[in-house]
Amino acid sequence: MPKQIISASEMERYGYCPLSWYLDSKGVDAEGKEVDTGLEKHKEIGDSLKNLLVEEKKSRETSNTLMTVVGMIMTVVTVALIILWLSNDTLRQNLGVILLIIGIGWMLVASFFLYSLLLSTEKIDKLRDDYKLGEEKIESPDELTDETPVLKSSKYNLAGRPDYIINEGNQRIPVEVKTGRRPQAPFFSHVLQIGAYCLLSEEEFNQKPKHGQIRYGFDSEPHKVNWDAKLRRIVLEKLDEMNDINAGKMEAHRNHKRVGKCNSCSRRKNCPERLTE
Ligand code: SF4
Repeated sequence: MPKQIISASEMERYGYCPLSWYLDSKGVDAEGKEVDTGLEKHKEIGDSLKNLLVEEKKSRETSNTLMTVVGMIMTVVTVALIILWLSNDTLRQNLGVILLIIGIGWMLVASFFLYSLLLSTEKIDKLRDDYKLGEEKIESPDELTDETPVLKSSKYNLAGRPDYIINEGNQRIPVEVKTGRRPQAPFFSHVLQIGAYCLLSEEEFNQKPKHGQIRYGFDSEPHKVNWDAKLRRIVLEKLDEMNDINAGKMEAHRNHKRVGKCNSCSRRKNCPERLTE
């Protein structure tokens, strides 16, 4: 029987508590106000990024159109000047003047595109400042290929879609944006998820990213998570465990002794191993 595909967000759930992931795979939904708020906030983040990507695409198109119009103006004006310079008869001189007027008309069109480009650039700068993105070239996984909106690994039977990817030279750095306050160090479950994205990025783009990034909202600096041998080993170990549980060779159980963790777990209501005070 072919192995079930595991997603990077499932790995996050597994990293939080294997039982939470297992219950989810058996159709026990997460419940609670925090789940709805988290989903809403995550959607807002996705929409903000989409705005930025749409604006950048628009800006590139406007810039290309502007260059075409400038090229046309230069051609028309050059031809007009040559005609005016070389010809003595009135008919040709009139043609030269008409071409000059057309050139001036195109200059008005060019100034409109230039104005749009300036507005668009201003908007992009503001969005990039708001999201602390600097000059990084970012991509949405939706645009990677037409057919594959998610990153896939046939080798590891893994799939996933980071919130965005930074295109750095020949490396693709996956970034996951989380809601909530920025902790001093990222949570293990989030590290596991970004590790899964690094593994996917490595296979999809044939280039190992040096790190992945976890961001808690857009107001704070990202955490860089090194994609090293240690994290790779942990990701592969957890993947093996999940595959074994799916195949019935192993059982999923609570992986901690923290009451507080169970209290804030969105599946506590239906969990047979939840801790209570
Ligand atoms: S309630 Fe506790 S044991 Fe159960 S899934 Fe949640 S964190 Fe795990």
